[in-house]
Amino acid sequence: MRSIGPKLVIATHNAGKLREIRELLAPFNIECVGAGELDLPEPEETGVTFVDNAELKAREAADLSGLPALADDSGLCIDALGGRPGIHSARWAEDEAGTRDWMRAMERVQSELEAAGPDASRDAHFVCALALAWPEDGQAEAFEGKVHGTLVWPPRGENGFGYDPIFVPTDGEQTFGEMAPADKHAISHRADAFRKLVEALG
Ligand code: IMP
Repeated sequence: MRSIGPKLVIATHNAGKLREIRELLAPFNIECVGAGELDLPEPEETGVTFVDNAELKAREAADLSGLPALADDSGLCIDALGGRPGIHSARWAEDEAGTRDWMRAMERVQSELEAAGPDASRDAHFVCALALAWPEDGQAEAFEGKVHGTLVWPPRGENGFGYDPIFVPTDGEQTFGEMAPADKHAISHRADAFRKLVEALG
């Protein structure tokens, strides 16, 4: 696979993801610039899988910036809800005006799980697809990572973002929202996808 340095666009407008990707890339001496800093538009996520959407975002950012671009598409898949919210995880946080509130998303998860009945499984997993795209020839490579766990209520912890305060990874006790960032990075779906990407880069 081709190299990605020395400058890489991180094709996300999500501050939480940008921070985590910067932290994961810190050891690699690559200058990272966020899509927001370059005023790149946020493309519509029309794919039906995490990989589709990550590739679409990376390709568009690479084409518009002329630089290699890395995009993440991720979400929470809940067993008892048939894998939902899945690729629509961010949408569950939005009101009619498109304003995001993570508490709204977590409350929706809890109310759908309650509606599924007292015996409904609380098993869930996060998925992260990372796609790298290069400008000009439209080449893209994607890597998928996962972390399994269970959902708790009420939410706990101020760290991380999104659904972190209700997700306890398998064999853990703290939610991702309570864990120190470095501990989340050691086991997260994003770190898993990242390990696969770094391996492919050689
Ligand atoms: P998208 O990939 O921008 O479409 O949004 C993915 C959504 O999934 C985020 O906005 C969060 O709601 C959720 N999500 C993805 N990764 C994480 C994570 O590491 N912790 C908590 N929530 C996450």
